[in-house]
Amino acid sequence: MADAAEPADLPGGVASRPAGQPSGALPRRLVLLGPPNAGKGTQAQMLCRTLAVPGISTGDMLRLESGSGSELGARLKTIMDRGELVDDATMADVVRERLRRDDTERGFLLDGYPRTLGQAETLASILEAAGKQLDAVLAITVPADELERRALARGRSDDRPEVIRERLKVYRDKTEPLIGYYRGLGLLREFDGDRPIEDVGRDLLAALGVQRP
Ligand code: AMP
Repeated sequence: MADAAEPADLPGGVASRPAGQPSGALPRRLVLLGPPNAGKGTQAQMLCRTLAVPGISTGDMLRLESGSGSELGARLKTIMDRGELVDDATMADVVRERLRRDDTERGFLLDGYPRTLGQAETLASILEAAGKQLDAVLAITVPADELERRALARGRSDDRPEVIRERLKVYRDKTEPLIGYYRGLGLLREFDGDRPIEDVGRDLLAALGVQRP
């Protein structure tokens, strides 16, 4: 999707919009999909800044709750420490609440949701009830051996080898089917994540019609 259809400059050479800003009516309701350690978090930050939409990381939201000392938090922590998935019903509540907030009116970038086909269907119905729909699903792909190498190098507390393996297995079993699901809906854009961060970021922006200065 090119920028070319947009009037790039106003007469007199004054840019019609700030450099690096997205143009026109471009995708704003986005899902970022990819295995653990694909670089999703970094790209999510960059995309949210550039597109001026809120990033919704369900992992961050769950981590916040799990540290709160609540009963729910304790239950979430056990699941997350094992690398397993929180159940779809709990996640539906979390995401439905978050998408009700006003800041999502201009769009959003979901990072870490949906992770199962059931969650994808729930998301579609949450949006449909609000008269909205997804604009695009951005999938970052990385070969399995490179993902394990990155995970071992990173050393987060939940990155014990057995947890790493569990998270990857869960991704393959539960989340990877979403790629075919969204491809079937014509929403999927795939990106090779086995490259420098900047290259992946540039391609993501290009796919969304954003040209960097
Ligand atoms: P993340 O930071 O996205 O890797 O998420 C950390 C952990 O939070 C995951 O390993 C899951 O245990 C849990 N989690 C985050 N998002 C979801 C989701 N959409 N469905 C189920 N569990 C999730």
